[in-house]
Amino acid sequence: MRKTVVVGNWKMNMTRSEALALVRSLKVKLQERPDVETGVCPPFTALAAVAELLRDTAIGWGGQNMFHEDSGAYTGEISPPMLADLGCRYVILGHSERRQYFGETDEGVAKKVAAAHRHGLTPIVCVGETLQQREAGETETVVAVQVRNGLSGLSTDQMRHTIIAYEPVWAIGTGRTATPEDANAVHATIRTLLAEMFDSMTAETVRIQYGGSVKPSNAADLLSQREIDGALVGGASLKAEDFVAIVKSAPKSNS
Ligand code: PEP
Repeated sequence: MRKTVVVGNWKMNMTRSEALALVRSLKVKLQERPDVETGVCPPFTALAAVAELLRDTAIGWGGQNMFHEDSGAYTGEISPPMLADLGCRYVILGHSERRQYFGETDEGVAKKVAAAHRHGLTPIVCVGETLQQREAGETETVVAVQVRNGLSGLSTDQMRHTIIAYEPVWAIGTGRTATPEDANAVHATIRTLLAEMFDSMTAETVRIQYGGSVKPSNAADLLSQREIDGALVGGASLKAEDFVAIVKSAPKSNS
């Protein structure tokens, strides 16, 4: 049984004090669903303060990106040991905004995924097609290439401790969502591919989140799909009541 996992990607939002206010509110309200794994990924500047507040709770925290080297002359970068040192559980890797604006490639993502595992971090690896690719009927091919290139170097144990986030690029921050059925179909394709690349037990174990304009009004439909094991939530994770409502939409049978 895969435990539903809902993680907030705050992107480049929230000063330290705004972050603390949001987390104080989440801390109380998320206690009602201990059967759902939850986490937040604040900007780096708020991460230490958020970690301090969440340390005695079941809510995890993580980075939105990192570099694959442990240390060195990489101005502006954050390393896996730095995130591990703050007690991070997660690190989001290969987000489409990083691919689009910062030139991230599948090869770079693969190095980061390996580095995350070396330091006990759970990578949340984002894959997804652009609108143009979807309209050209290339969704499954594009996603398959991203999954193969980003994850094929992992051991089965590492793969089982990796989360995949299927995030159609055209649905991120746009208010447009994939229909639950369409998202479920892509998730099923990813799972079949994982069975080919690893084995069927591994494929059944890996949690695949959906991301792209998830909000309280569509979360229940998405999270009730068989192959959808959680959500990576951007915009709606910036409001405590919306994030909590999304977590509460998770079907209880997934516990
Ligand atoms: C995201 O940033 O991963 C995301 C899914 O954003 P949004 O929920 O705002 O579409």
